[in-house]
Amino acid sequence: MRVLLFGREGKVGAVLMTALGEAGHEVVGVEVGEPIEAAGFDAAVDFTAPAAVFGNATTALSAGVPCVIGTTGLDEASLAELDRLGRESQVACFVAPNFALGAILMMRFAAEAARSFPDAEIIELHASTKIDAPSGTAKATAERMGGDVPIHSVRLPGLVAHQEVILGGPGETLTIRHDTSSREAFAPGVLLALDRVRGLPPGLTVGLEALL
Ligand code: NAP
Repeated sequence: MRVLLFGREGKVGAVLMTALGEAGHEVVGVEVGEPIEAAGFDAAVDFTAPAAVFGNATTALSAGVPCVIGTTGLDEASLAELDRLGRESQVACFVAPNFALGAILMMRFAAEAARSFPDAEIIELHASTKIDAPSGTAKATAERMGGDVPIHSVRLPGLVAHQEVILGGPGETLTIRHDTSSREAFAPGVLLALDRVRGLPPGLTVGLEALL
């Protein structure tokens, strides 16, 4: 596939430039301020920043190019607008708050555990360069656990992406933890999304679990 990658020089983008190329895709990377000609690409991938992702996705979708979005921090109104634009252009827009397989399982196990343990809290820990808080993964986890779950955000150098879900009952606690130790963890999920995005219905699809 010919893939347009927004955020070529970012921490995730740099890993994806290599991983997508090694998987046989022809990747053209774009950085801030560079001119974008989206027409002719088979798909666009965005790992940039909350302030940039909506504009990038709008450019791609308007040109009829399906999108795979990993950038977090998109608000509900922006997601609704991307859904509308995708339907209008008859292309899919896939958004996942987390592309790591272990994180998807963590969310599934947390939802299951919440049925037996109504008292729970989430601690999400990320690199100090992550702008948005709480993380998209923490919000998605809380939603799947029934909504009213307090989230604590930690931002420190040295961290990549980590989350702990702690559930408490009389005399016991259950901790479910996922650690991303390298950004290579996100590449298989992005490759899967690229493989599937053109088969998705026009408009918005959210979450890697929709593809598994
Ligand atoms: P990062 O290192 O700050 O990289 C972002 C890159 O995007 C930077 O090189 C930045 O350039 C560039 N950029 C900013 N605006 C752009 C634009 N308009 N067009 C093209 N490039 C642009 O951040 P990161 O750690 O790679 O993370 C990127 C995003 O992905 C964040 O929102 C993060 O939360 C999210 N993320 C999601 C997942 C997931 O699984 N869904 C996993 C990890 C990270 P400058 O440095 O010049 O501004």
